[in-house]
Amino acid sequence: MAVENIAKHPIPAGFENAHAGPEDYRKLYDESISDPEGFWGREGKRLDWIEPYSKVKNTDFTFGDVSIKWFEDGVLNACVNCVDRHLESRGDQTAIIFEPDDPEAEAQHITYNQLSDRVNRFANVLLSQGVMRGDRVVIYLPMIPEAAYAMLACARIGAIHSIVFAGFSPDALANRINDSEAKAVITADTAPRGGRRTALKSNADAALLHCSDKVRCLVVKHTGDQTTWVEGRDVDVKAMMEEVSPDCPPRPMNAEDPLFILYTSGSTGRPKGVVHSTGGYLVYAAISHQYTFDYHEGDVFWCTADVGWVTGHSYIIYGPLANGATTLMFEGTPTYPDAGRFWAVCEKHKVNQFYTAPTAIRALMGQGTEHVEKYDLSSLRLLGTVGEPINPEAWNWYDKNIGKGNCPIVDTWWQTETGGHMITSLPGAVETKPGSATLPFFGVNPVILDPESAKVQEGDPASGVLCIADSWPGQMRTVWGDHQRFMETYFQQYKGYYFTGDGCTRDEDGYYWITGRVDDVINVSGHRMGTAEVESALVAHAKVAEAAVVGYPHQVKGQGIYAYVTLMNGVEPSDELRKELETWVRNEIGPIAKPDLIQWAPGLPKTRSGKIMRRILRKIAEDDYGSLGDTSTLAEPEVVDDLIDNRMNRG
Ligand code: ATP
Ligand code: MG
Repeated sequence: MAVENIAKHPIPAGFENAHAGPEDYRKLYDESISDPEGFWGREGKRLDWIEPYSKVKNTDFTFGDVSIKWFEDGVLNACVNCVDRHLESRGDQTAIIFEPDDPEAEAQHITYNQLSDRVNRFANVLLSQGVMRGDRVVIYLPMIPEAAYAMLACARIGAIHSIVFAGFSPDALANRINDSEAKAVITADTAPRGGRRTALKSNADAALLHCSDKVRCLVVKHTGDQTTWVEGRDVDVKAMMEEVSPDCPPRPMNAEDPLFILYTSGSTGRPKGVVHSTGGYLVYAAISHQYTFDYHEGDVFWCTADVGWVTGHSYIIYGPLANGATTLMFEGTPTYPDAGRFWAVCEKHKVNQFYTAPTAIRALMGQGTEHVEKYDLSSLRLLGTVGEPINPEAWNWYDKNIGKGNCPIVDTWWQTETGGHMITSLPGAVETKPGSATLPFFGVNPVILDPESAKVQEGDPASGVLCIADSWPGQMRTVWGDHQRFMETYFQQYKGYYFTGDGCTRDEDGYYWITGRVDDVINVSGHRMGTAEVESALVAHAKVAEAAVVGYPHQVKGQGIYAYVTLMNGVEPSDELRKELETWVRNEIGPIAKPDLIQWAPGLPKTRSGKIMRRILRKIAEDDYGSLGDTSTLAEPEVVDDLIDNRMNRG
């Protein structure tokens, strides 16, 4: 369906007392753009500062001189803001609910007082191993409370954490340890997930063979499984936590000191070490958590992301804890022991806000609604999505079956680089449209540029590449160790703007629709088309489970449309079905969008965060699979071989 035909969903009842209503949003947004100093000068005070800031914004997007500073003379500690300052008012409130992988195992409720004890002790363990302010610490942990303790402990002593997703291979881990010259790696013996166990410690052992022998290995004995032990290098964290003092004075940090490094998922190239600041980042994570999710005192907030992704950093740990919330950490997977697990957990812990990715929604959608109907989801007030454009099919399923038509869906567009939400609806303020991230967050000034002329596209509607005209506090400050790469990646192509890499359309109502990466826009016979649109049409067909579309060189059209299609369980591929899908897409979008080649794909290459790696699919479609690039972050590398063997475009 064309964008202009998608109707608005009204703001559901119950959001009259939201943090922002329609007029508040307008007023605050306008202020944030016309007077960023005033707006952020006030909002920065939501944190506790050791030394207050006198300067708010000092930023420059000029290529060659890019420099981003917020609250630059302020001094604070991120851990104090997430833990200590809550102790007096809410020491006995649950800070973290831990739901283990095994549904039979008991959940843990960790209060702010307990969190403080654990974090102080963890920080003292780090100090005892010689970790100092400014040192890098790689965290390679599953979704267990110790991951939160480790992050906050680093923040407490001013060490910079760099989380590596626990599903990554020893190679990917070694690269990240070496790139950041980390002093220590924190891991666990083994990690249960979906009923299976990953041998994390032995992965870390393998990685450390390729690292300096000075790197310490701090091991959380989580399952108690046997691991090899290297005397003098390995440390039993839990045992040591019992020995050290429960008091560790927080280190006063400058607002611009790095809080963490996080490597991007690598779906478009070699991973970059994205550096986030202490002050600006935390202000931005806190304000966006509060407004986007309409977080109120006492709410139970659940973000299903892994702490290995930025979403986990900002919306499991830093945003919720800065706001004194109860945040849920889930160790397991959406389909273990069955496809009802998310909903079972929502019922069990009376979750109020639920935030997940379209890929998870689509996967659960394919399993039928009987897994949903068993559970009481009446505690849910709001639903969110992040990670990729959500196709209207999945949006409607989510709305109807999970939200029961009563929960606003916030579709949050943002990036590792942006620290927090950039374009998203606010639940009490903005009517939604399925598939649109709607309107910008406070302080975010999006512009759409013509990709060739770089001219700003004024007025609605408009289409082109999405850039941001001015800095916001959550913005990344640099690429670790490579400021030049930072400038070249984000500020060179469109001078004076932060270039997001995403294509975008703004409709008649001023709503933003992310059409995917600019690399994913193809030009068929002179028509520019986002591949996401064709994918969305394909997955709307009842027999299609998933689809990925890329361009390939076509003698007549310039570029042709190459579609990889995964069929629903039990559906047999056939030439008739291929024809049926071609006709289907032609009817849904138009003749121009009809795929030229359809390949049946039993699986698609995805990053561990569930994003399709289109750059690999593009290479296969171009019949140039000799140079696939870095595939170390793929979830299942073996699917690539099958796709190569069965490719349609043999040169
Ligand atoms: P890399 O930068 O290494 O290629 P990545 O871009 O996949 O990896 P992330 O920072 O996790 O890493 O993802 C940000 C991207 O995800 C955005 O640029 C956008 O393409 C997509 N995205 C995220 N949220 C949304 C959303 N709500 N709607 C549409 N696209 C989204
Ligand atoms: Mg990216």
